[in-house]
Amino acid sequence: MTTVRVVVGAALFDGGRLLAARRSAPPELAGRWELPGGKLEPGESAEQALVRELREELGVEAEPLERVAGEWPLRPPYVLHVWTARLLAGEARPLQDHDELRWLAPDELDEVDWLDQDRPAVALVAGLLRR
Ligand code: C5P
Repeated sequence: MTTVRVVVGAALFDGGRLLAARRSAPPELAGRWELPGGKLEPGESAEQALVRELREELGVEAEPLERVAGEWPLRPPYVLHVWTARLLAGEARPLQDHDELRWLAPDELDEVDWLDQDRPAVALVAGLLRR
């Protein structure tokens, strides 16, 4: 049996909006939108990976808040976990993996073509944004 490997996605909030990032690669994912994030490195917690990935991909400092309940399958052995996070400092820019960013208000979440595997988490996060 292969142990699952976690990819962490960030539901990054700022001022009541959610950040969506458009992937530039690989070709089969390019043009689709995701919650930015990536694979945990060995020995890393999900929170540490989330902070590192947001720094690398977007040039921002963020604080992980809470895990969104659920686990969504990716290409084996990977599974997607999602954490909410709060923007602490910096202005998000697409530094790697993405070519466009959008800060979406709660009523705009359907305006981008989310990756299929991110959709359930985005739906759950929509409820949090409206709180
Ligand atoms: O960004 P990175 O390439 O490290 O992400 C690993 C894999 O996780 C990607 O190939 C992508 O398919 C998947 N992923 C995803 N949804 C996210 C973040 C990553 O499906 N929100």
